Amino acid sequence: MQRIVQLTPPALSAEHIKEKIICIRAHRERIFQIDAQKLHDKLIIHNYGQGGAGWTFLFGCVQEAIRKFEHEVVQNSHYKNKPIAVIGAGCYGLLTAIMLARKGHRVRIIAKETENLPSHKAAGLFFPRPRKCSTQEEIAQFYARGMESYSAYLQIIDGSHPFINRGPQLLPAYFGREIDPGFGPYIAAGLIKQPEAVTINFGNSKNYDALEHRIVYLNATILMQELWRTIKELGISIIKQEIANFADIEESIIFNCAGLGAKKLTGDAKIIPVQGHLITLQQQPIEQLQYLINFQVTMTDERGGHREEIIYFAPKGDGIVGTTFLRGTDSPTANQHEFDRLIERCRNFFGTNF
Ligand SMILES: Cc1cc2nc3c(=O)[nH]c(=O)nc-3n(C[C@H](O)[C@H](O)[C@H](O)COP(=O)(O)OP(=O)(O)OC[C@H]3O[C@@H](n4cnc5c(N)ncnc54)[C@H](O)[C@@H]3O)c2cc1C
Repeated sequence: MQRIVQLTPPALSAEHIKEKIICIRAHRERIFQIDAQKLHDKLIIHNYGQGGAGWTFLFGCVQEAIRKFEHEVVQNSHYKNKPIAVIGAGCYGLLTAIMLARKGHRVRIIAKETENLPSHKAAGLFFPRPRKCSTQEEIAQFYARGMESYSAYLQIIDGSHPFINRGPQLLPAYFGREIDPGFGPYIAAGLIKQPEAVTINFGNSKNYDALEHRIVYLNATILMQELWRTIKELGISIIKQEIANFADIEESIIFNCAGLGAKKLTGDAKIIPVQGHLITLQQQPIEQLQYLINFQVTMTDERGGHREEIIYFAPKGDGIVGTTFLRGTDSPTANQHEFDRLIERCRNFFGTNF
């Protein structure tokens, strides 16, 4: 018989709901874009399109973008020792600027916004599954970049990372049996332990079969604070400005970390906005909620139709529940009714109305 894990459920009555958040993922069909482009006299290194897994792939993608840049500099010494502009102050722009500055480059950040970005709002699950339609070569990219990232997060946890001290944390994560988070190669490489089949029990009538993993949870709030602390320590300047055209930037080397903004800047038709709804919680027994949940549930709509929905929980702040994946929607306000559906399915899943 499999082990039974007793979990405290999050409290989900009206007074436990803190904030309803709509946030847009910059999803790119098949795979994110990490590429070097020469445009007029400029070298542009693109790094965008990580969708709902930007924190997951962060370190691997930024390191790969910088490797592409260094390769171009070896090919063309014209770009050597030139100042660099990084577009974007999300986790990609900040980490890129930090890593370039630490390598001795002169770098500044240009960003339309610096607060309330998708980078701040993310729930923080490490979810490295490649896209269903990716080619074999692209799947290999997903695994390589994801494992590079995972190793960096483990370094932060064991205190050996060179500049980030806090943010990730190893937690038990319970995945519904229908969810494949894509950990297979990580387990084969010894980065993640074999999962155990367990039954989770919320102390009420709600029991579920799950796979228990012990994986890194990424606290986006703390990681953003750490990135900002490092930006300040390195004296990297930030200019608040929207860029309409790469030609408007004086530097001849540009890292494009504009997230969803990259669609307009590059005209990349493969970027699809995917709207997500999240609810942050308050007044929770958060020390008893140190776990992650990721399940798929089938919900019935008003017309009796069925829709597969996702439930996740992470102990970000006082807890966060999610989410939706509404492809093609980039409105920061539309589909408010999704919050009612989300809270209803979470109450049903956790068996809590209190
Ligand atoms: C609902 C939701 C849940 C998520 N959950 C997770 C999760 O659990 N795990 C995970 O790994 N990832 C998650 N993510 C994904 C993650 O948050 C993103 O992939 C990541 O934050 C993208 O970072 P970024 O730096 O590329 O973009 P952003 O954070 O969007 O930053 C983009 C920056 O570029 C600037 N910019 C854009 N256009 C221009 C322009 N023209 N000129 C100047 N500046 C410009 C913006 O102002 C901003 O500063 C989630 C995302 C959402 C929406």
